Amino acid sequence: MRVLLVSTYDLGNQPLALAAPAAALEAAGHQVRCVDVSVDTLEPEDVDWADRVGLSVPMHTAMRLALAVADGIRERRPELPLCFYGLYATVSRDLTVRGPQDAVIAGEYEPGLVAWAGGGSPGPEVQLGRTTRPPAAPARRLLAPLERYSRLAVGDERRLVGSVAASRGCSHRCRHCPVPVVYDGRVRTVDVAAVLADVDQLVEAGARHLTYSDPDFLNAPHHARRVVAAVHARHPGLTFDCTVKVEHILRYPDLWPELAGAGCAFVVSAFESVDDATLAILDKGHTAADASRAVTALRAHGIEVRPSWLPFTPWTTVGHLVDLLDFIAAHDLVENVDPVQMTVRLLVPEGSLLLDRPEMRPHLGPFDPDRLGWTWTHPDPAVDALHAEVVAVAEAGIDGDAAQTFEQIDALIRTRQPSSPPRPAPGSRSTGPAGGRMRLTEPWFCCSEPTQAQLAPLALTPHG
Ligand code: SF4
Repeated sequence: MRVLLVSTYDLGNQPLALAAPAAALEAAGHQVRCVDVSVDTLEPEDVDWADRVGLSVPMHTAMRLALAVADGIRERRPELPLCFYGLYATVSRDLTVRGPQDAVIAGEYEPGLVAWAGGGSPGPEVQLGRTTRPPAAPARRLLAPLERYSRLAVGDERRLVGSVAASRGCSHRCRHCPVPVVYDGRVRTVDVAAVLADVDQLVEAGARHLTYSDPDFLNAPHHARRVVAAVHARHPGLTFDCTVKVEHILRYPDLWPELAGAGCAFVVSAFESVDDATLAILDKGHTAADASRAVTALRAHGIEVRPSWLPFTPWTTVGHLVDLLDFIAAHDLVENVDPVQMTVRLLVPEGSLLLDRPEMRPHLGPFDPDRLGWTWTHPDPAVDALHAEVVAVAEAGIDGDAAQTFEQIDALIRTRQPSSPPRPAPGSRSTGPAGGRMRLTEPWFCCSEPTQAQLAPLALTPHG
């Protein structure tokens, strides 16, 4: 079979979610083409060539864009079988599955995708089999080069980045997160040798920094330690970043000197809020005080945290937003927060663990099929209006100076609470290093409603 794999958005990374299944499909004897429409155009010739098309949907934004691509493909080739695969695959089946030829596979999708490409049954819609030892290194030769993807910014220097995965799934069940909807508290590790083989080819392609795309790098700490040690021994000059929840940052203090010594440049961590009641509703497993401790615990080893935030929820007050801004200032984190983080509004996708919560129910509206999520409104219309204003400021500043944009958002929010105490002195709780801090040139987005700022640069013109 001739299988066309399409990615729409993978957080600015060269999509491993194309290269890994491509290797599995080739090993099974199929011909494979890969197109990442975030950097390339899907040509009519590619659609005409294919016997089957797999659409990678690892997140909400990717799914919304993939539906537009699927419409374009179906307009040209209505009979072509399509398979949506990845974390969001089982969302909105009425929009994805048009007949028995189509399929959706979430979780560990490679075996199901191979079976489907061969004309067989893809198996269950959610697959969590322990088959993560791939038949070959991901087929990155089928992808656009690393030069066309997100870079590591170190001062004025831009270094090539490779995205790898040491595990999939998550052992936690944060209620706003799509991962537990599929993995239900399970983790699937990737064989150390397989990770190393992928890193080898990324280094060969010029990568000087790795992003571990694991939902949480320390779900399997011993495995993470083995992966980092093996990669560092083979490629001692590589730096890396990873995503780790606050609870894990604090639970494994002995790991951080080791990870820092092996090149850990920064850690992304989903702080979400500094309101403990909101954190409890989300079942985050940490408090604002824990988040503060996590900042200093990492800084003790020269590692900066890049927190992600969920400022706008049904429980947000202007006071919470001001507290959040104060936290960022007091911990000297302005440089560590992309302004778009201040726009993130709670996303409630199909199957969300929040749907059954009594705290959520009073705010819920109907399901919006276009936005692939349940609508909700804030009990105070002024907070929803403020959100729209913050989004407008962030979008206007998307290509400008991030610190300036952040300052504008800070000023805007503070005008809504004129009686709030003065802003704390920058770094009054913790101070980071002077000078430019390392960051990826593509901001991190996940678990949130995509903003126009995210969607606009990714606008698609599927060929009909
Ligand atoms: S938010 Fe992070 S820690 Fe929580 S369930 Fe999702 S991936 Fe796991």
